[in-house]
Amino acid sequence: MSEHDHDHGHDHPHAPITNGDEPAAAPRVRALEELLVEKGVIAREDVRARIDWLVSRSPGDGARLVARAWVDPAFKARLLEDARAAALELGLDPGPSPVVVGVENTADVHHMVVCTLCSCYPRALLGPPPDWYKSLPYRSRAVSDPRGVLSEFGVELDDDVEVRVLDSTADIRYLVIPRRPDGSDGMTEEELASLVTRDSMIGVAEPAAPAPVG
Ligand code: FE
Repeated sequence: MSEHDHDHGHDHPHAPITNGDEPAAAPRVRALEELLVEKGVIAREDVRARIDWLVSRSPGDGARLVARAWVDPAFKARLLEDARAAALELGLDPGPSPVVVGVENTADVHHMVVCTLCSCYPRALLGPPPDWYKSLPYRSRAVSDPRGVLSEFGVELDDDVEVRVLDSTADIRYLVIPRRPDGSDGMTEEELASLVTRDSMIGVAEPAAPAPVG
């Protein structure tokens, strides 16, 4: 007898519930949502609104924070202390995450961010995390071999640069302020923001180089 050949009080075919290559957790999440809606804990409209909000976020918001920090040291100090408050200052929506702090990369220290447990990430300011951020190889190797991981992303650091790996949690998340690129002196804040890539705010890449003049 197959494992599904049992009587559980209703009648439907037991094909596996999947949606293409979706993760195994997805059907469980859907079942949980069904139950919470059925019990009146949440409304389906709330779930949809929250998903819409989440996918409407983009790294462009984080880039505006970094560009402002590059041109305004007082703002940078506030971003390093409380990125949510700094985001509100620029009229950005910092979302529901409790604490987000900025960390600054310098000539001496390089920060990179990981969530070793799952996928904690400043989604309100950077949008949904990249798939590799959620992958087991990144989550484990960012800690065991950060320089190797950085090298695979194309970041080669001198031996005397200290690498700090920051482990995000449900309670605290990080936004890396990458080093301002050489040759960006005359650029406007908006132009600077266009150099700030998502990966540079996770700390696994440098910002884009300014286009050569002329
Ligand atoms: Fe997490």
